[in-house]
Amino acid sequence: MAKAATASATEIAEQRFQREVLERFGVPPVGIVPDTVAEGLQQESAEKDDGGANIPGIYNPSGGWKCMRNAYYAFYRYNPDAPGDGNGVMRLGTLEELEIERLLKIKYGRFIKNDFPVLVLVLEGKEPDTYEIELPSEDPDFRPEGWFYKGKRILLMVRGYTDYYLAGYNGRVRVMWENKSAARVGGKKSASDHHAHQLSLYWKASKAEAGRMVYSSRNDLLDMVEIELDTSELEALFLESVQYFVEFHDFVVSKTLPPDEPKMPEWECRYCPFVKQCKKDGGKPRV
Ligand code: SF4
Repeated sequence: MAKAATASATEIAEQRFQREVLERFGVPPVGIVPDTVAEGLQQESAEKDDGGANIPGIYNPSGGWKCMRNAYYAFYRYNPDAPGDGNGVMRLGTLEELEIERLLKIKYGRFIKNDFPVLVLVLEGKEPDTYEIELPSEDPDFRPEGWFYKGKRILLMVRGYTDYYLAGYNGRVRVMWENKSAARVGGKKSASDHHAHQLSLYWKASKAEAGRMVYSSRNDLLDMVEIELDTSELEALFLESVQYFVEFHDFVVSKTLPPDEPKMPEWECRYCPFVKQCKKDGGKPRV
């Protein structure tokens, strides 16, 4: 019997992104990219699960601030050493997510929402090798055409969805959280570097008043800790994150293998699915 066709997670996420951007900005998001790329996006949705290509210039906030060589292998779909398991230990299970939502609602009331659509545009600057950042979420004139926005060429865009946030009465985002799980959360006093960078993109793009990491325990679902980051720190992390994507984009478009430089040398290589490939390419994984 023929198997009924079902939408992949990528297709569902893509359709949701299109719908939400349409609702928020009044223009279809495919207008951001030229037709050929828009077609590519649709094709990507259809093919991604079969190893279809990612699109240079379109990146996800969760893919930033890690070893660029690791990100490069993942972008160009090199064979991993072992079958992937999502983001491994950093990925939250559905049960944990529901538990965090429940705990946040107990603490902050029912104005807890999730999946704020994030869009950060990096535009070509006035001078060579410079760039400008635009966050079109509150721009009433948001009318991008092709790879252009406000008459400037879009170098790249970072887009995705947030975790939970606290919505205010005026429609503004009061608190943006980024959720991660950890083996032990009890003594956790500071956010991990890569988590904080991801949060900074969500915080900035949503124009939230505050940004916090929320860590839940993998051993005890009731154990949760919130860590608020200073807004000046979030601002600096945001700029670092954008710079990261700009540099990564250069490697992607020039098809140049980035150096073997983990951002978190104490553990990143141990969880990297491309250790064999990295060694084959002359790298020295810290394992
Ligand atoms: S093994 Fe380490 S250095 Fe090599 S790609 Fe992976 S994270 Fe980067």
